[in-house]
Amino acid sequence: MTSQAIDSARVTGRSIDSVLHRLPVDFERLAGLVTTAGGEREFQTVRAPFNGAALGRVPLCTGEDVLAAVERARTAQKVWSRRSFTERQRIFLRLHDIVLQRQDELMDLLQLETGKARMDAMEEVLDVANNCRYYGYRARKFLKPRKRKGALPLLTAAWEHRHPVGVVGVIAPWNYPLTLAISDALPAMLAGNTIVLKPASLTPFTALYAMKLLRDAGLPYEVFQVVTGSGSQVGQPLIENIDFLQFTGSTSTGRQVAQTAGERLIGYSMELGGKNPILVMEDADVEKAVSGIIRGSFANTGQLCIAFERLYVHRSLYNRLVDWLVQSTHDLKLGAALDFSADVGSLISQEQLEKTREHVEDARSKGAAVLAGGRARPDLGPYFYEPTLLAGVTPEMAVFAEETFGPVLSIYPFDREDEAVKMANDTQYGLNAAIWTRDSARARRLAQKIETGTVNINEAYWAAWGSVDGPMGGFKASGVGRRHGREGIQKYTQSQTVADQRLIPLAPFGGIRPRTFALLMSLTLQAMKRIPGLR
Ligand code: NAD
Repeated sequence: MTSQAIDSARVTGRSIDSVLHRLPVDFERLAGLVTTAGGEREFQTVRAPFNGAALGRVPLCTGEDVLAAVERARTAQKVWSRRSFTERQRIFLRLHDIVLQRQDELMDLLQLETGKARMDAMEEVLDVANNCRYYGYRARKFLKPRKRKGALPLLTAAWEHRHPVGVVGVIAPWNYPLTLAISDALPAMLAGNTIVLKPASLTPFTALYAMKLLRDAGLPYEVFQVVTGSGSQVGQPLIENIDFLQFTGSTSTGRQVAQTAGERLIGYSMELGGKNPILVMEDADVEKAVSGIIRGSFANTGQLCIAFERLYVHRSLYNRLVDWLVQSTHDLKLGAALDFSADVGSLISQEQLEKTREHVEDARSKGAAVLAGGRARPDLGPYFYEPTLLAGVTPEMAVFAEETFGPVLSIYPFDREDEAVKMANDTQYGLNAAIWTRDSARARRLAQKIETGTVNINEAYWAAWGSVDGPMGGFKASGVGRRHGREGIQKYTQSQTVADQRLIPLAPFGGIRPRTFALLMSLTLQAMKRIPGLR
């Protein structure tokens, strides 16, 4: 699809052309910020999913470019890690203000590059600011040396130190190109590491723009670099040269890249796919539940790892809730609006459109009922697909267990709580879940039985996602490691224990026979078990 083939007047609100002319983003200059080792490079054109308009071109980096970026990052890391925490902190607190000040242009760029609705773009801006503030103020506590209990009371003093791992490679997907390029990198940089980021091929400009904002906030150039290109051409050599891998993407790619990381014995954190369930209990507030289900299932046109694809509703309110849900889904406004007038935006690519269409058609052909949506909307743009509700989904259908990563929600009734929990957990994934009930204590109890890394009570996903003091990540095939909170920064460090032995060695000393020493040590350990202060 070319820009000539689609009439940009179809874009509601401000047209793409008018925004492109007004946007204070020079795509050519941004492309010039990509790290290369010099020489001729092939280029890749990036297009706006809303109408296929060409936004600009970025170089297709090579293995040599990746090596050059990692080498620069390694040299810079030595200087960066010696800077005081306060100096580093100042940069990220400044970034907090910059992203909020420049939110309009950030949202324009995000919408142009991904085709998402403006509210979904806004969430990305909020997420970056949220993480800047949280780690800006809290990271010092997570990184400072801690006194630890020594081997022997009074005689051994021990401290735990945290050292940066070195160069962190961030490999990011296209669905949240600002959040997933920046928010995971912030704690790594605060901990004294440098970053080489490989954004998804569909969304390099948001990552490059984020890099520009980091530089505006005072970050030295080599501390955060971007290499652009495909997973195999750029991602693979990156993993072969870095010291830690922060990967966000599909479970199948995660499994593949983990092999290289495992071979090299480097640490990694993997944020992977999901097939997230919602449980609506018999005492739920139906109106609030419907609004949360809509938000949680169709945010970012369903292309959100923590979005919902399975809804379990207590049979006593099934008909009422489904009627309401169908009506609310019909009421959603789809459109390529570069303002807040559309509720749901476009899918990002032909590939996403095909996957969504295939899942729905497969379900329909095997007997599922399409209660709402279920069709593409080429009249709105090349990749638009209506938010879709399915009932009667069975295990033979692809949509039952596979991640669609599109705006498709399958609805199932249940009679008993344990049945709902069993169905919710009957998946290889374990990323996010939501429970709607008026009984919060019951929901908190129930949440313990759900096998997902985050559970939201009476909210879709922002409650747990936005609570950045708590860890976020996946059970089962949804991930390894966590972002956010203490774990989200300490993973970018190597811990080191330094122990200082005083007065006597931890070995037979002063002529004491080994047998006597063994007895002494046994008595000491027994005393340490009995006396609470020594445990
Ligand atoms: P993807 O796995 O295809 O690609 C992710 C990134 O990995 C891209 O930058 C890609 O170029 C790169 N890549 C691909 N092959 C590679 C290889 N062999 N070596 C190194 N890098 C390689 O995923 P996607 O389609 O971009 O994103 C959608 C998926 O991401 C969904 O499954 C979604 O659930 C998941 N996701 C998870 C989270 C989370 O926090 N758990 C967040 C967002 C998206």
